[in-house]
Amino acid sequence: MPTESKRRDVFKPAFATVQDTSAQYGRDIEDLENLPDEFIQVNQCFLVAKETLSYARKNATWDESSTDSVQSSATSLEKKAKMLQKLFSQVGEEMENDSSDGSVLDCYRDTLLKLGKSYRVEVLMLGLLKDLIALFTKELLNAENYMKFDELKEAIDTMSQVESSVSDEDFKTSGANFTQNVASGGTGNQSYYGGRGHHVFNGNGAITNYHATNISFDPDNTVGRDQLQRRSASQAQAGGRPRSREDFQIAIICALPLEYDVVSLLFDKFWDDDESYGRARGDMNSYTNGRMGQYDVVLVLLPNMGTVAAAGAAASFRSSYPNLQLAFLVGICGGVPRSGENEIHLGDVIISKSAVQYDLGKQYHKAFVIKDTVDDSLGRPNKNIRSLVASFETEHIRDQLQQKACLYLKDLQSTAAKRRRPQNYQYPGINNDKLFFTAYRHKHRGPQPCKFCDNPTDVFCENAAKESCIDLGCDETQLVKRTDLEIRGSTGDPEIFVGRIASGNSVMKSGEHRDRIAEEQKVIALEMEGAGVWDEIPCIIVKGVCDYADSHKNDLWQRYAAATAASVMKAVLGRYITTDR
Ligand SMILES: [Zn+2]
Ligand SMILES: [Zn+2]
Repeated sequence: MPTESKRRDVFKPAFATVQDTSAQYGRDIEDLENLPDEFIQVNQCFLVAKETLSYARKNATWDESSTDSVQSSATSLEKKAKMLQKLFSQVGEEMENDSSDGSVLDCYRDTLLKLGKSYRVEVLMLGLLKDLIALFTKELLNAENYMKFDELKEAIDTMSQVESSVSDEDFKTSGANFTQNVASGGTGNQSYYGGRGHHVFNGNGAITNYHATNISFDPDNTVGRDQLQRRSASQAQAGGRPRSREDFQIAIICALPLEYDVVSLLFDKFWDDDESYGRARGDMNSYTNGRMGQYDVVLVLLPNMGTVAAAGAAASFRSSYPNLQLAFLVGICGGVPRSGENEIHLGDVIISKSAVQYDLGKQYHKAFVIKDTVDDSLGRPNKNIRSLVASFETEHIRDQLQQKACLYLKDLQSTAAKRRRPQNYQYPGINNDKLFFTAYRHKHRGPQPCKFCDNPTDVFCENAAKESCIDLGCDETQLVKRTDLEIRGSTGDPEIFVGRIASGNSVMKSGEHRDRIAEEQKVIALEMEGAGVWDEIPCIIVKGVCDYADSHKNDLWQRYAAATAASVMKAVLGRYITTDR
């Protein structure tokens, strides 16, 4: 007889399909102009659908005798998601092929006429959500224990009120008078939400209300206002080569060559090929200038690691690039595997809300001193950046960000292959994501004696820190068994966490100290340069988790973690809104 958790696998294909469908929407549909209203509404429901399925995969229980009926409702759900996927994919293709410049609505109507009325997106989503709520009414799941139950109900209410933009009349109309019908307004309810996924902020009735509980609004609405300003600014610039360094507003800072290499794979254009922009007197940094998405961006590699170096480089940066509005510090960090409800894994990405500085002396295993504990002692990022990062604390926007980042990651991997880079930046695999118990140290275990590792006071051993777990014979029976990765769906898609990062001059080398710092400072990751940059330039730290900030060493994840961080950074940049100068 299969175990409970094995039986819950019946939801696995449905979960994966819903996940794929939502990703497909992000890839093919979301950025198109003038989307039919029901597309936007349907997209808003993916999150609660995924979360409910994920909840079912952890918690659903039923009698052996009901297994067949559970299986058939899971299959029916999956089928609806597949139909949605097919519809989105065909509309996306139509949009690409359509040489007559048709609108999304036109392509949607054409596709529906081919596939049939049952493919109306709101009908499919409503059916899917009803299949989900049936899990509660059939008592496979308990509504009282599920925090998102009200959201699920609300989504069903919303979906059942959506009117189709393609009226029943359209299905009866023959090709000859089809155009006339459209022109005379027979298209039912439609509304226009332009922009690149910023519609949650634009105050347009139903959508804003629907997610009101999830979105933390910027009280002064700077995001919405600045969005308009950006349009005029970018129109003026029109995407040509910037005239001088003064035209650059965005900086990307990396501390390691491997981080720099990864970021350079995400540039869409380089501006230095023919002519250099130079640098200010006294500035020793080297720069790469180019374009990423809709922004001109300057990339710098810091001379060496640590907060002081970062501060110096950032200050020089300012003199050469006086109009910098935003710096990203992009690269790798150590993650705190568990904090609150978060299960952080290797390859996941941390976006900083704030950084806490700590300083470690040579004997850092014994004497660990935090220099400053005040939350914003390092200076606060400007309001524009704060509201941007705050928006990533909403599940809805973080979900969109994640989908975008996954696409950039795939771009990056294929660009690396095209340029014949020696690294492929692929996910190293769930079996290589190894977390040792906190108290299990990475140390010499003989046969030769080690005066540090054999010391009962547990002095830190720098030589052991340089050797891998395999070389030192770290015992894999001491690994923590983690099961949460299975329910994430397709493994290898990085999760994004927003939280505080501790920033210090030395690499953290002990699991116990990691946990102590994490608890005292409420940080979810540790890194080495953020504090220095933070002081000089408004800064968003985007770091991929390459280890668990404990004593154990494994370089397998560094490049992949740098790649996930760079991909998330590019997705964040896509949501950044500059202000007029
Ligand atoms: Zn040792
Ligand atoms: Zn080890």
